Amino acid sequence: IKEKGYGFIIDRNGMVIAHQDEAKKGHYLAEEEEQLALLDGILEKQDGIFEITTGQVKKTVFVQPIMNQWYVVIIINSSELLAEVRQQLTVNVLICAVIFLLISFFYLIGRRNEQNYSQRIEKMRAEEQKQAFEAKALKLEKEAAEQANQAKSSFLADMSHEIRTPINAVLGMNEMILRESLKAQKENASGNRRPEDAFRDIIGYAKNIESAGNNLLAIINDILDFSKIEAGRMEIVEGNYHLSSVLNDLSNITYFKAKEKGLDFVIDVDETMPEELFGDEVRVRQIITNLLNNAVKYTQQGHVSLVLRGEVRGVKEPGQMIWLTAAVKDTGIGIQEEEIGKLFAKFQRLDLKQNSTVEGTGLGLAITHNLLDMMGGSITVESEYGKGSVFTATIPQKVVSTEPVGDFHSRFQENIQETMNYREVFQAPEARILIVDDTKMNLEVAVGLLKNTLLQIDTAASGEESIQYTEKVPYDLILMDQRMPRMDGAEALHIIRSQAGGRNHQTPVICLTADAVIGARERYLAEGYTDYLTKPIDSKILVQMLMKYLPDEKVLPVQRVTSDLTADFNEEESRGRYPLLLQIGVNPETGMGYCNHEEALYHTLLQDFTQSAKEKEAQLRHCYDQKDWHNYSILVHAMKSSSRMIGAEELSDMAARLETAADKRREGEIAAEHEVMLARFGDTVRAIRQTFGDGISEKMTDRNLKEEDEILEFFPEDN
Ligand code: ADP
Repeated sequence: IKEKGYGFIIDRNGMVIAHQDEAKKGHYLAEEEEQLALLDGILEKQDGIFEITTGQVKKTVFVQPIMNQWYVVIIINSSELLAEVRQQLTVNVLICAVIFLLISFFYLIGRRNEQNYSQRIEKMRAEEQKQAFEAKALKLEKEAAEQANQAKSSFLADMSHEIRTPINAVLGMNEMILRESLKAQKENASGNRRPEDAFRDIIGYAKNIESAGNNLLAIINDILDFSKIEAGRMEIVEGNYHLSSVLNDLSNITYFKAKEKGLDFVIDVDETMPEELFGDEVRVRQIITNLLNNAVKYTQQGHVSLVLRGEVRGVKEPGQMIWLTAAVKDTGIGIQEEEIGKLFAKFQRLDLKQNSTVEGTGLGLAITHNLLDMMGGSITVESEYGKGSVFTATIPQKVVSTEPVGDFHSRFQENIQETMNYREVFQAPEARILIVDDTKMNLEVAVGLLKNTLLQIDTAASGEESIQYTEKVPYDLILMDQRMPRMDGAEALHIIRSQAGGRNHQTPVICLTADAVIGARERYLAEGYTDYLTKPIDSKILVQMLMKYLPDEKVLPVQRVTSDLTADFNEEESRGRYPLLLQIGVNPETGMGYCNHEEALYHTLLQDFTQSAKEKEAQLRHCYDQKDWHNYSILVHAMKSSSRMIGAEELSDMAARLETAADKRREGEIAAEHEVMLARFGDTVRAIRQTFGDGISEKMTDRNLKEEDEILEFFPEDN
């Protein structure tokens, strides 16, 4: 077989039937010895393959039986049998391996490319995302900055409006004072008008200046506090304090503010609350006052209430924390749900349409919120638009003693009654006080404020001078300005306390200072002052302080001194006496309320109202024609308060609307109401004149100056 082997046919006896070698035909395989093993193998196998070794060579034998007992035998060298196949196989394997390698190679290259590609795509995507994110962040930052900027601009605009309004009022009122004074001077010289009449007008204007000044001060205090918070310079100064003292002051202020607006003020304090606490009293006051002020500000009718509770998590004992919760509830305008989120943001004022005439900075709640944060407290709001709101502040404080605060409500009621009776009306002719201040005007103001108390007042213009006075005179009380050149108040106080002879070792010394910042009170008390009063002096607080520290036996309530002045007042009867006034919308009861129900005083007010009516009308018309809205606003402002004082509420409301319209330069609104208001003013003046005729005016001219001063004490504060 292609020289690799050979084949033959044998029968079962081993005789060669066919062979390539002709010579072997007819012979037996067994004849050759080396062929014996082959024959045995063939006969044994009969059909199949086996291997034999001849010499050193391995051979493969294929046996196949054919015909009758014959066998075809093919013998091939084993080594050559599969050589080609193997070769072929090797070639195939090699080809496969090469193909595999090639495929792997291309696969790897492809994969690498793909990886690179997706990495690049990924990178591009990340880049894109980063850019989009940066753009978005930038946009948000820009929006926030714009918003803050806008809030700041509108704050500045609001602020300049808020600050300009009282300043305009101050300047306008001052102009009126100057004019009135000049006019009074002339008229007095010619004997046409009594100086008392001029004084009354002037004092009215001065009261307006006072109220405008107070507004301005409140605004500036807010701004100062806020900038302190923003600059991180606001500090919490803690100390022991009495809860009832805080509550007393808060409720007093709110009670009168609410009363002026015709609102009720309700206070409900848990009787078991501890009386003495440790914390920042000034800030606790400020937080609750802010909420109460807002409640009064944003409520037109109904009531404002303060509910105070304390939660002790554990046993109530000294050193334990107590969570004060002050819930301030009002029946006011409420807040729209979507606006609540903006409440505590700085400079945010809500519902400007409704609140355009309400003064405010939009800082009060932001300050409150920040203070609460600093004190570890919190604040929540619930509100129903048009119905009212509840602001609840929670402030953690420490319990100093577990003595309970008790029935504060009843004590407050009694206190109010007392304050109402004796408010601003004590006299102490036996008492002697010293006022020390280096500014002459401040001395004059303090003396002026106390004129009606009949106190004996000495004034010293420096610390040194106060030393000289105190060496000689034992005082019942000393008001000491803290900031003076050379020797300041505290130095003078120390010297007074250690003077030989000691005439004033025990005298209460009250510090006068413009320093109303954190911890001022504690600092001054630590210096040895008995108490402290902030400047500008609030006459009510000054009087309260004097009543507190002057010896009881020297303080006489004015009622006791002038009790004959207070006539019995019968509302029913009085209504019947003023039919013409009632017809024109003047409510004599309201008017008399402002006069402490002294009818004679009410008559004075009515007469004042009719005085120079023609002139007032002419001034209003002149300003209207000239479109001089600045002075127009001042005139209608005066009309607003004077008509409210006599009980002409509708007229007062008209004037108030005109004032707002003039401030905002809304000429359409002014035009719509200007004539109507003037007509109502004319009718009111006529009705008053008809009610009294000339007789009463004559009677009124007999009044003396002292009576007049008393009348003025009953003027309600403006706004
Ligand atoms: P403002 O000086 O304007 O009173 P605040 O920060 O105290 O500033 O209050 C922010 C705004 O929240 C107010 O302008 C007002 O719109 C609203 N607001 C605050 N308290 C009340 C309340 N008791 N009832 C209704 N609205 C209120």
